[in-house]
Amino acid sequence: MIPVGSSYPIRIDLFSDTITRPTKAMRQAMANAEVGDEQKGEDPSTNELVALTRELLGKEEAVFLPSGTMCNQIAYALHCRPGDAILVDETAHSLCHEETGAPALAGAFYRPIKADHGVFSVAQLEAALRPEGRSFARNAVLSIEQPSNLGGGTCWSLEGITSVTNMARSHQIKTHMDGARMLNAVVATGVSARDFCAPFDSVWLDLSKGLGAPIGAVLAGDADFINEAWRLKQRWGGSMRQSGIVAAAGTFALRNNVDRLADDHGNARLLAELLSVHPQISIDPLTVQTNIVLFDLVDSPVTAAVLVDRLIQKSGVRMGAFGPSTIRAVTHLDVDSGDIRIAADAIRALLDEIHSMPTSQRSF
Ligand SMILES: *Cc1c(COP(=O)(O)O)cnc(C)c1O
Repeated sequence: MIPVGSSYPIRIDLFSDTITRPTKAMRQAMANAEVGDEQKGEDPSTNELVALTRELLGKEEAVFLPSGTMCNQIAYALHCRPGDAILVDETAHSLCHEETGAPALAGAFYRPIKADHGVFSVAQLEAALRPEGRSFARNAVLSIEQPSNLGGGTCWSLEGITSVTNMARSHQIKTHMDGARMLNAVVATGVSARDFCAPFDSVWLDLSKGLGAPIGAVLAGDADFINEAWRLKQRWGGSMRQSGIVAAAGTFALRNNVDRLADDHGNARLLAELLSVHPQISIDPLTVQTNIVLFDLVDSPVTAAVLVDRLIQKSGVRMGAFGPSTIRAVTHLDVDSGDIRIAADAIRALLDEIHSMPTSQRSF
């Protein structure tokens, strides 16, 4: 991933769905939020968000946290003892972007599972398990990402989830769902959030991704689990005061921005279709299920990092380099289909331009 931050003006930002800014209506909801002391359970707007999410996810209890990262790390710390293994797909956010979290905070380590686009089968899970025994780590928790981020927004089916979580339970392994973009999977598949969440001991969703809120995530589970989660929230400095100001944005997002995720999915598919016709781009539009487009450069004279850099400079379109020849573009509520067409044209024209340059001039 390229470092975030550009000295060039960005016109169309497809780097991530985290870049959305609160709309006027969302800011209005924030301004009007009733607030109190969250640590004492006295912030009505936070309580409202928590109740709404609990209902949506079908869990007994929930807690508002500053970030999805804290949701993952609190859950891992509660499910694991020092020396335990967290079973997770090899491209998972927690493994790739929170690599030091669980080792430092829980004393646990990530054991990667080989997967296809972030989704693994019972056989692939089995292949990652170590036998029971004193010289092996305890398999403490199975963590899945719905939908997979670095897998290209791929959704787990309910059957897939049921099979791997059944297998985990039969080995006394706890189950956790990183649902950063879970509502994208709900909109894409038509399966309810409750159904997706039912097999898991802990689940969370992010309010600051495609839902468009500025800050926050909600972690859910049974009442005992959330009671323990509160201890860590307090210990790690995640307890807040008048958090209703931001919780109100989350409530607004859940009430207004869920159905429209379908537009983001349509725009992602459109981008993939427009890119797929270029001979130096490899992407099958049919694999694009949600709002993430992960595509590869083939026979490109430049690396993905160079290309995304030139793309910003030349056309103000930002995407992310996620490997030597892999680029990620993410759609969200601040881009429309017109922007997608401009972005696709810009990257195709840039590839053509670089391709037609004599090698000696490709001095970047
Ligand atoms: C963004 C993301 C996270 C981390 O969430 P933050 O709110 O940015 O801390 C975790 N998992 C996945 C899959 C993500 O995409």
